[in-house]
Amino acid sequence: MDSAKSIQLTVLGGGGEVGANCFQLSINGQHLLLDSGTHPKKDGLGALPDFSLLRRAPEVLLVTHGHQDHCGSIPYLMRQYPGITAHATHPTVRVVDRMLHNSVSVMGLLARERGVADYPLYEHEDVDYAMQRFEGHDFEEPFKLPLSTPVTATFRRAGHVLGAASILLKAPGHTIYYTGDICETAQELIDGFSPLDPSVKVDTLIIEATHGANAHAGVHHYQDEIYRMGEDINVVLEQGGAVLIPSFALGRTQEVLNFMARLQEEGRIPQVPIYASGLGRAVYELYDKYFEYLKPGAVLRPLDDFDRIGNVWKPGVVKKLISEPCIIVATSGMMLENTPSAMIAEEMVQSTHHGIFFVGYLDHETLGYKLLHSSPGDELLFGLENARVPVSLTNIKRFSFSGHAPRETLRGVIEHIKPKNIIFVHGDRPAIDWMKEHTGAGYNAYAPDIGQSITLEA
Ligand SMILES: [Zn+2]
Ligand SMILES: [Zn+2]
Repeated sequence: MDSAKSIQLTVLGGGGEVGANCFQLSINGQHLLLDSGTHPKKDGLGALPDFSLLRRAPEVLLVTHGHQDHCGSIPYLMRQYPGITAHATHPTVRVVDRMLHNSVSVMGLLARERGVADYPLYEHEDVDYAMQRFEGHDFEEPFKLPLSTPVTATFRRAGHVLGAASILLKAPGHTIYYTGDICETAQELIDGFSPLDPSVKVDTLIIEATHGANAHAGVHHYQDEIYRMGEDINVVLEQGGAVLIPSFALGRTQEVLNFMARLQEEGRIPQVPIYASGLGRAVYELYDKYFEYLKPGAVLRPLDDFDRIGNVWKPGVVKKLISEPCIIVATSGMMLENTPSAMIAEEMVQSTHHGIFFVGYLDHETLGYKLLHSSPGDELLFGLENARVPVSLTNIKRFSFSGHAPRETLRGVIEHIKPKNIIFVHGDRPAIDWMKEHTGAGYNAYAPDIGQSITLEA
């Protein structure tokens, strides 16, 4: 049996950033990739992981979940290396399919409207080919990888979103655990992550560090935060306003729709229409299809309970939508320009009786972040082709519903697993550096940049 005591890890993306996550593990001359994302804030070829670091074709790709920063570049990778076999959980395979076909449409739009030169990075046929290369698995079901060194992989529940997994890799003489994006909170629909059994001895831990620099993440209890938000929603609806909740299409949208419906059932907020936007609805159907992957006892309302938003780029549609009290759950969560949430906000910020409530991570350079920190009279750009709009609305808030573990939990994961080597990834530089400084003592701790290779000894 080939020993794999020494394994080399190369960071293609997701080193010192929440970006295009992609990590290569080299085991006895063969290559395995963990995730293949795109950078959510970059355009064109610049959004890809640094695939030039691949000296030869990887054999296998393992995908943790369907967020763009973990799966967005798969069709591009597969076109270059058509022999790769890919693995994910059953729900993730279907989620990735929907997300990638949607990406083709979005990239086409950006190419036409903003002239992004390299878009689309792949076509629908490339997505179809990539999906043919996928094999789906259940959680806790070990499977062998097609490598000459015998390596088994197991997907484990990561919480976070439907199908999201951490990956346990057992090679002869070396065990690796890659957390992917993890969440310990039991959300409305998805349970918290499954801790690793202490009998499993892990040599190398690759751990996300999204909240490394945020001492406040996770201080609000999930249920309390839902009720706190309900009170703020009441105020807006009573004064005849509309509430906009910008949400990621995968995960947050389905969670928010269901806890809004629950607040209505509990009589905590009035029975106004709840609207949901397109991609969020498509993913909702998969939450329904893979119901057994949701939290035990989760109540998933029929998708038809939620109304369609309509074409927000058509003149008059948004004005009509917000003319009556209602709750709107729309993508994108960070309110990137030209997305439904931005188009709706553009109209809302011109009045003072509405409410815009953010519920997720906001990168500092995004429109959502700028709007959250705006003062009356500030002018912001919501549609790239449109004129700047002065902001009159002041009822703009952020509620704390992160889908990522707070740093104290990450610290707990490390102490529980006690690996020999720790690689901190998926966090901006301050987050990763905090984690390395405050939790890395006693371990071989690394906070690698993109392009860096590390030799890991078991
Ligand atoms: Zn994620
Ligand atoms: Zn992520």
